[in-house]
Amino acid sequence: MPQIIDGKAISTAIKEELKIEVGKLKEEHIHICLAVIQVGNDPASSVYVGNKKKACAYIGIDSQSYELPEETTQEELLKLIRDLNEKKEVNGILVQLPLPKHIDEDEVIRAIDPKKDVDGFHPQSVGALCIGQPGFVSCTPAGIIQLLKRSGIEIAAKECVVIGRSNIVGKPMALLLLRENGTVTVAHSRTKDLKEVTKRADILIVAVGRPKMITKEYVKEGAVVIDVGIHRNENNKLCGDVDYDDVASVCSAITPVPGGVGPMTIAMLMHNCVEAGKAQ
Ligand code: NAD
Repeated sequence: MPQIIDGKAISTAIKEELKIEVGKLKEEHIHICLAVIQVGNDPASSVYVGNKKKACAYIGIDSQSYELPEETTQEELLKLIRDLNEKKEVNGILVQLPLPKHIDEDEVIRAIDPKKDVDGFHPQSVGALCIGQPGFVSCTPAGIIQLLKRSGIEIAAKECVVIGRSNIVGKPMALLLLRENGTVTVAHSRTKDLKEVTKRADILIVAVGRPKMITKEYVKEGAVVIDVGIHRNENNKLCGDVDYDDVASVCSAITPVPGGVGPMTIAMLMHNCVEAGKAQ
């Protein structure tokens, strides 16, 4: 039986630590506040936004909610972001993605003050990560590093393979593993002989966005497997990019879906909000 990496327990531990820290900051009259912007009412986005606000309330972070109609213009959204950049009491700004098609996401992300970029998507934050400077790190990959560290899994000198090269998961994940002194390979849709590459991995991070694609044929005996994917199968049950039962028979540690990477994303967002509040 592999070690099951319990993202629910680890994220709860992080939230408890943050709750204590936020309580202490309040005693010094430092209040932390996150502004959450949602444009339109995509049901999945509403669930994510609701969960983020709940986590804020639990930890003691104030949240301001901006629910804008679908037909909001780019200029209106940019103006709101500029106003929030100026507001002293707002420490973090989160724009829930995806945005409606008529809005340029990149321009919106660039409008956020990097000091308030708690999602870590601003080019300045990504650049800082790339050259090893302090800055906010994208929450899902940052959460995966915490999962590994808090499960006692050493990264330094390990062969790490990341499948996927998206800006929010794959690329920052590779940079973070490199920062932890892993030997990192990034595989993607144009990689030749994917199995040959993934079988080298001591730590395999899977962010392909394809349900149950990774079976034991892709995994070296004893590897650690982190599954970033989230999908609903034909029975409306959640599953990941990894075929869990199949891969569990060969790996040494694995994250379940749900209860693995998913809960870590919000915990790391809360961590970034606290860091933003302390720095400001
Ligand atoms: P994406 O679609 O932007 O990127 C997928 C990547 O996989 C691409 O870079 C592509 O090159 C690669 N890829 C696609 N097919 C491939 C193949 N056959 N072989 C090799 N590589 C292939 O997805 P994303 O935003 O990085 O998200 C990946 C998954 O993680 C999705 O299932 C998403 O829902 C999930 N996700 C979960 C969380 C979380 O909090 N748990 C956060 C973000 C994303």
